[in-house]
Amino acid sequence: MPDADAPLIDTLAIVGLGLIGSSIARGARQYGLARRIVAIDRDPGVLERVRALGLAETATAEIATGVAEADLVILCVPVGAAGAVAEAMGPALKPGAIVSDVGSVKASVVAAVAPHLPEGVAFVPAHPVAGTEYSGPDAGFSTLFSGRWCILTPPEGADSEATARVQAFWEGLGAIVESMTPEHHDLVLAITSHVPHLIAYNIVGTAADLEAVTQSEVIKFSAGGFRDFTRIAASDPTMWRDVFLTNKDAVLEMLGRFNEDLAALARAIRWGDGDALHELFTRTRAIRKGIVAMGQETAEADFGRARPVAAPEKAPPAA
Ligand code: NAP
Repeated sequence: MPDADAPLIDTLAIVGLGLIGSSIARGARQYGLARRIVAIDRDPGVLERVRALGLAETATAEIATGVAEADLVILCVPVGAAGAVAEAMGPALKPGAIVSDVGSVKASVVAAVAPHLPEGVAFVPAHPVAGTEYSGPDAGFSTLFSGRWCILTPPEGADSEATARVQAFWEGLGAIVESMTPEHHDLVLAITSHVPHLIAYNIVGTAADLEAVTQSEVIKFSAGGFRDFTRIAASDPTMWRDVFLTNKDAVLEMLGRFNEDLAALARAIRWGDGDALHELFTRTRAIRKGIVAMGQETAEADFGRARPVAAPEKAPPAA
């Protein structure tokens, strides 16, 4: 008879102990979701930090031995690496194991991973919609997923028991779970996450390349709007390169629509159409209020940021 007090997962293997992987390890530990955690990463420096932080019972670079006893394996590597990792671990997975991931793109991950999984292993892709602009095992924290959405994209005919287990795991980490197809996920995230990152990378890049305004002026006089873009544009270059390469179609579709709307805005400015600008800015304000009302953002002014502690040094007044 199963032990009612036993953790949800016996052996949990996490591949890639960066921001997301280390946050899952911390959360699984804190909320008692796994009896044993195996951390797998190719980077010896990361494994050393995992041991020092006590994030797992075992820390190894050997993927096949690392996953051999796992009941749940979660891939937390950049989406472009998911296929190679699945190929390396596939033959070592035990029958009945569940494989999941956290990739920010779903259709390409499903296509890259599924062919490498043996019969008897269930695949339940997932994407926690939570993160920060920091990377690595020291950046993670156990409450990262608390109150955040986690989207599951189980393939048609997926093992319902495995899907329910993965859902229970994410709920155990504090997330709110919803399911959809991988293709729909990629379209939704293209407009809510991928295109905004592209715009941030672009606007910060444009400012950095301006000839008429110096780089030190861009840094010194950065207004709130630009500062918010720089936070997003500081996100991990490898992760985001992979997102754009693997969600190409949906991003290009949303970017086409974005460019049309931007051209309409430019036209409204050129022709002095204040009503059009005012109408749009009123509608967008309502979106922001909706996000705050859903508890996904703080209502505090400027995100509740503290004021800078020290004013820039001024030359003493002339005597
Ligand atoms: P991260 O902090 O950069 O960590 C990724 C880790 O995976 C690094 O330790 C990296 O090692 C390791 N890795 C890379 N390729 C590997 C391979 N082939 N085998 C084993 N380990 C490998 O990245 P992250 O922000 O946690 O993102 C991980 C995943 O979560 C991505 O798929 C991303 O799309 C998804 N995600 C991210 C966010 C976010 O806001 N950051 C939010 C939701 C989902 P090296 O340093 O040696 O490359």
